Amino acid sequence: MNFSDQQRLKETILQEYPRLGRDDSFAFACGPGVSCFTVCCADVTIALTPYDVLRLKRGLGISSEEFLTRYTLIPFDQESRVPVVILRLLENEKKSCPFVGAQGCSVYPDRPWACRMYPLGLASPAKSGERVPNEQEFFFLMKEEPCAGHEPSTVSSGRNRAQRSVTIRQWLSEQGIDQYNALGELFKEISLHPRLLKGQNLDPGQMEMFYQACYNLDKFRQFVFESSFLKRFQIEPGLEAKLRDDDLELMKFGFRWLCFALFGEPIMELKKEAREWAQTQLRGIAPQEKRSG
Ligand code: SF4
Ligand code: SF4
Repeated sequence: MNFSDQQRLKETILQEYPRLGRDDSFAFACGPGVSCFTVCCADVTIALTPYDVLRLKRGLGISSEEFLTRYTLIPFDQESRVPVVILRLLENEKKSCPFVGAQGCSVYPDRPWACRMYPLGLASPAKSGERVPNEQEFFFLMKEEPCAGHEPSTVSSGRNRAQRSVTIRQWLSEQGIDQYNALGELFKEISLHPRLLKGQNLDPGQMEMFYQACYNLDKFRQFVFESSFLKRFQIEPGLEAKLRDDDLELMKFGFRWLCFALFGEPIMELKKEAREWAQTQLRGIAPQEKRSG
């Protein structure tokens, strides 16, 4: 789906779909008993969040580099101000998800946010280049052919099969979405940063930095530990050890680094020696600037 299609769909959702809140309920059933089992795991565009990538690469026991190379694409989209990562589908007739099998999802405990949410969608009235308070976002129910999960008649009995009514709050909790949403909020601080919304463009080097700190965590870890980074920047006691072993801490640190490096937020501190070196450099530049002025 290209950008114009997405915009049209968004308009339809905003204008026509009933808006649901966390205490609204819906009836849905899914599991091996439904006639359409796994048909939704093909020919679908699944955008991956940084936390999706972290969970999937960890669950699969492979590096972020390997995961990104084998399982993702970065579509070129002129409208995107930051890199977007999507799941790469198989090149078979159905265009299947690489993780679907006869038994269902092989990465179920680490399935992406979008798969957890389905059949719920989350919409925002924000226009392109705008961010609105979360309270203005709303949930909506997707009813797509041939998903039979909404129909009582498709569901008989057994685990996961009972047609039941759940509140959205319950659904989010049962699907483990709260943790994903909490990290999604942190990611929004970068991906919807006011500077980007005001039109700042990232150059190719900055796009690469964004991609690495958000998605390619193993490479970002190399940058932190194998470059002069730790000689230049002050970090809190105890954090260095966490960054070595804890992907989640590293991801949050990556978001913080991007706020500093891309948007100039004063949230990282240079070490004394690095500060002095930077001041020397500036002193060296000043007379030159004067001469050329
Ligand atoms: S990750 Fe799992 S749930 Fe999501 S599309 Fe693939 S197989 Fe289906
Ligand atoms: S009921 Fe809907 S969500 Fe479940 S397998 Fe069928 S198409 Fe997918």
